[in-house]
Amino acid sequence: MAKIEVLRLDSQQDDFSEQLDKLLAWESVSNKEVNQVVDEILQRVKADGDAAVVEYTNRFDRLNVASMAELEFSQSELQHALDSLPEEQREALTIAAQRVRDYHERQKGESWQYQEADGTLLGQKVTPMDKAGLYVPGGKASYPSSVLMNAIPAHVAGVEELIMVVPTPDGEVNQLVLAAAALAGVDRAFGIGGAQAVAALAYGTKTIPRVDKIVGPGNIFVATAKRAVYGTVGIDMIAGPSEILVICDGQTDPDWIAMDLFSQAEHDEDAQPILISNDAEFLDQVAVSIEKLLPTMEREAIISRSLADRAALIKVTDLEEAARVNNRIAPEHLELSVADPQALLPLIKHAGAIFMGRYTAEALGDYCAGPNHVLPTSGTARFSSPLGVYDFQKRSSLIMFSEDGASEMGKVASVLARGESLTAHARSAEYRIKG
Ligand code: NAD
Repeated sequence: MAKIEVLRLDSQQDDFSEQLDKLLAWESVSNKEVNQVVDEILQRVKADGDAAVVEYTNRFDRLNVASMAELEFSQSELQHALDSLPEEQREALTIAAQRVRDYHERQKGESWQYQEADGTLLGQKVTPMDKAGLYVPGGKASYPSSVLMNAIPAHVAGVEELIMVVPTPDGEVNQLVLAAAALAGVDRAFGIGGAQAVAALAYGTKTIPRVDKIVGPGNIFVATAKRAVYGTVGIDMIAGPSEILVICDGQTDPDWIAMDLFSQAEHDEDAQPILISNDAEFLDQVAVSIEKLLPTMEREAIISRSLADRAALIKVTDLEEAARVNNRIAPEHLELSVADPQALLPLIKHAGAIFMGRYTAEALGDYCAGPNHVLPTSGTARFSSPLGVYDFQKRSSLIMFSEDGASEMGKVASVLARGESLTAHARSAEYRIKG
């Protein structure tokens, strides 16, 4: 394979800002043809329910089933998958699930109330959604870790029914995915995928319950369908390609850093690995490590494309500047591979997940650290957060006026309502003003 030229940037170069913009430019998923295909699938499933889902599943996943019943996995199948796993895999999955659960337990929002001097009560009641739909991709690869990351927060939130969909192309069922579903507390699981699965969850069919929110990553058909059904149901996010940004002070083994960059690059040709350092020689060393290690990778072709098209090695003057560049990028994953990550942390404002210290490989976060691996991509960490328990909880405001409180606030509301010419509002409040 030809030598990989990774883009080199220096914060001191005149056009650094423009070069950075160019590097980060990413067209979010939107494709006219795909929109049309997805639109037709959504309409058909809405109109014909199970029959349409079965038809599309037979077509796109190359199956030959007669009814939805054949596409549902029973709870005993899920449990059997878990029980039959090789000991080492079952143990690893169980440890990961427990750590993810422990972490997310801490995110659980609680209801609260407080009382004002006149006895008026105000507060917030937190309740879980009734039903959540979990999309587990399965077209080209299987992702048991995604089952845990999507299902466990929903389960911890107290969602009553968790419905998982996972395509089984050519009838290939991934036992690890089913086992993860058993561990994570999935209630019903169906072997369907693509836009038809999103439609079934959004509108409901005779067999598949209509859910309140659909979470989970997927290909362009899934992402387009999720975008289209938003409003009918909630969605978590529209995920773009994976990203990793490493800030290194030049003191970590360059092989480690090269492999950390590869670990996201191997997801996708469009994945974006970036290294920032204040040490130019270190950037050279990592470039050498990349050349050396690339041929040893099973996914060499994917990594090479990602490195050639979307990667960069960026020289900055100091770590403070590295933090400023990070905040401009707002990456999905940020590694602080520096001597004192706690000292740098206050300068970091935008990142989906921050991996601190030389020992904290981002890959641990993908599987078993505990925090969620479903993270905001494409700079959306500026305004959004990792998938969490809070995504499956909603808040209702609580208001209970005492007689005195209603009288006092009635006067305020009356003035404001009359200012808006809303007489019924004003009189409704005024009825309750005392004497
Ligand atoms: P998928 O489950 O998303 O899609 C498979 C389905 O796509 C099929 O079942 C089929 O219904 C539909 N489909 C395929 N070709 C079609 C066509 N021509 N017309 C209509 N529908 C069609 O699985 P995938 O394809 O492997 O994609 C998974 C995606 O999820 C990848 O892009 C991967 O990078 C991403 N992913 C992201 C994360 C994350 O955490 N961000 C994790 C895992 C996977």
